[in-house]
Amino acid sequence: MISDKMKELVKNNSVIREMFEEGKKLKKIYGEENVFDFSLGNPSTPVPSKVKDSIIELLENEKQNIIHGYTSNNGFEDVRDALAKSLNKKYNTNFKSDNFIMTVGAASGLNIVLKSILNKDEEVIVFAPYFSEYKCYIENYDGKIVVISPNEGNNFVPDLKELESKINNKTRGVIINNPNNPTGVVYDESFIKKLSEVLMKKEKELERDIYLISDEPYREIVFDGKEVPFITKYYKDTIVVYSYSKSLAIPGERIGYVIVQDEVKDSKDLITAITIANRVIGCVNAPSLMQKVVSKCTDITCDMNIYDKNRKLLYSKLKEYGFKCIKPEGAFYLFVKSPSEDDKEFASRAKKYNILVVPAYSFGCKGYVRIAYCTSFNTIEKSLKSFKKLAEEYGIYKK
Ligand code: PLP
Repeated sequence: MISDKMKELVKNNSVIREMFEEGKKLKKIYGEENVFDFSLGNPSTPVPSKVKDSIIELLENEKQNIIHGYTSNNGFEDVRDALAKSLNKKYNTNFKSDNFIMTVGAASGLNIVLKSILNKDEEVIVFAPYFSEYKCYIENYDGKIVVISPNEGNNFVPDLKELESKINNKTRGVIINNPNNPTGVVYDESFIKKLSEVLMKKEKELERDIYLISDEPYREIVFDGKEVPFITKYYKDTIVVYSYSKSLAIPGERIGYVIVQDEVKDSKDLITAITIANRVIGCVNAPSLMQKVVSKCTDITCDMNIYDKNRKLLYSKLKEYGFKCIKPEGAFYLFVKSPSEDDKEFASRAKKYNILVVPAYSFGCKGYVRIAYCTSFNTIEKSLKSFKKLAEEYGIYKK
């Protein structure tokens, strides 16, 4: 008999994951090349060759109990040291190895942070549309998710007045995801500054630590010269959660890290708690081989021009066909307004053309769908005919 809590999670299983499984079924029926699977943020961009070379070099030269053994719960010290040095150089920060905890991707990073800071019924604020897993992660630790409504009128940049009104003496954290999944919007420095001001004001007023949890798997994926402000400089109680899943296109390798800077109140206690949380939730340590690999690849990423090329083609063509889309500035998602009010109806009509997209009600924002364009360029090119037919069916394509 499964638990009541798990029954609920089974009933509300991830729409993204369901679409991904559906895609696999359709590919068996129609052939891989005839299904346009834009469901999951699973990059098909080539993994940088340095990653493969580092794996081979480590396998050939490193001791077995290093690359295949357990590590400390917070990870290898030399790896954390290499990451600190690289970020300090890039962002002019002042991190040391002790500020880092190596994690099993951003998913486990978020879980161990939330486990370490939440008491029962404490609240974590998220900005809609938001990565749908946040709700499960917060509720894993008996916390409550509080949603700031989607700010459609301002290109989905969150309304800070609403944020301010929703912070209270139960608030423990705010999650920000920049560049954003699913909108592709990048929050600029002026927004980050204003957000920090609200949080500082509220910390003081409520005499409470409020953590800004910065979920950053897309940090390097930005276009048209946009920049993602490095968040720790703006608000002291910031916890960074990073992942290599997207920047190196290795989501299956499950590697990332958490940073707690010294300026965070009682930072040492928090780092210890997060390190122990890594063990007690059963991750124990981040994959040893992958820790060593990322320490050798600190300054490289996938070729972002590949995502940019996909973005430009898909955005311009969908606009031409009459779809209303948010112009992506970062990440690799296109957020498209559903021509009918019901985003589920749109997603299922798209499926008739073998196009798989995710209805955005699952991100807390009805009336839109998310297209993950981290596919091959060929998939995008081949899908255009089907998108055009879909637009014709809705009567939005004006020739
Ligand atoms: N946060 C966001 C916003 C994501 O989009 C994802 C994955 O798609 C994650 C976290 C989890 O990433 P990881 O593969 O590092 O666990």
